[in-house]
Amino acid sequence: MGQQTKVLEKLNKNIEGIEVHFQHDFTKLSTIRLNSVGTLVIVKDKNSLCDLLKEFKNEKIEYKVLGQGANILLPEVLPWVVVQLKFDFDKSYLNEAHESYDLPASISLSVLSSHATKFGLSGWEVITGIPASLGGAIYMNAGTSLGEIGELISEVEYVDESGKIKTHKVEKNSFSYRKNNFLKKGDIVISAKLLHKGEDPKISKKIKSYLEKRNQSQPLNKFTCGCIFKNSTLGDISCRAGHYVDIIGMKGFTLGGVRVSHKHGNFLENFNGSNYPETMQLMKLLQKEMKLQYGVEFEFEVEH
Ligand SMILES: Cc1cc2nc3c(=O)[nH]c(=O)nc-3n(C[C@H](O)[C@H](O)[C@H](O)COP(=O)(O)OP(=O)(O)OC[C@H]3O[C@@H](n4cnc5c(N)ncnc54)[C@H](O)[C@@H]3O)c2cc1C
Repeated sequence: MGQQTKVLEKLNKNIEGIEVHFQHDFTKLSTIRLNSVGTLVIVKDKNSLCDLLKEFKNEKIEYKVLGQGANILLPEVLPWVVVQLKFDFDKSYLNEAHESYDLPASISLSVLSSHATKFGLSGWEVITGIPASLGGAIYMNAGTSLGEIGELISEVEYVDESGKIKTHKVEKNSFSYRKNNFLKKGDIVISAKLLHKGEDPKISKKIKSYLEKRNQSQPLNKFTCGCIFKNSTLGDISCRAGHYVDIIGMKGFTLGGVRVSHKHGNFLENFNGSNYPETMQLMKLLQKEMKLQYGVEFEFEVEH
């Protein structure tokens, strides 16, 4: 038995609010469903998370927190332990509207979107249709053409790599395009305070019509990881990666079990049990072709 396995078995016994699963099949834990196996630690409360991260630091165990796995390509054998948060949350909190919301990082944005639709929360339309946990969305500053989640957040509570709970009060520069500027490697968001801009009965219609628009333009019934590239700029011109993939004629291009979506050039679809090396090969090929043909360097949006 390896040293890391021994340590994890000991922690499994000593920290009440964790569950360790060895040789866990991660295929269904990411939305693109690449074949993947590794060690999963489910954490049920914040004190257990603090204890766990302290021990990880002492024992030099590498870890990564996973939300809904909607923006990550998981390697075939995970080189780090995956931490997944499953804190208790009393769902009746969302039976009524509030002025501000204290929410756990593991809550799904789809739950928040339903709440916003029901109560017409102005501002929350910016997260429409994004598959994510709140923690993952904060990490990525997830957004749509309507805006970004960073606009809604006033405070973020996280545990740092030495197991200490910290609070970040959101300022002007806390977020930028598809990233936060305050979390350091190893920090795990545990909760956040969300604001809204009042109640507006038109919001529900706006959310529904935006969802329909997404349904028409994105392959939402396929295994994908959302947009693989960030949009870019060439001088003053903004360049949409999906459009460039389309004009170089690579929609539908297939490599083994993964292909460029016919519906949206910035999406890859895993249609037949693909894996990390194959998917990375296709992403790098697209990136190279776009650079060669248009001189535009598109950065990967998906974590890999
Ligand atoms: C069909 C589809 C459509 C999409 N559309 C959009 C879109 O319109 N806009 C958009 O922005 N994105 C979109 N995405 C991408 C994805 O939904 C977002 O990037 C989202 O923020 C990922 O959240 P997650 O919980 O799945 O994070 P994961 O993919 O699980 O993790 C992503 C990163 O966040 C980190 N992370 C996760 N949880 C925490 C936490 N609690 N604390 C600290 N770090 C954490 C992880 O370690 C990892 O580095 C789409 C994806 C799919 C599959």
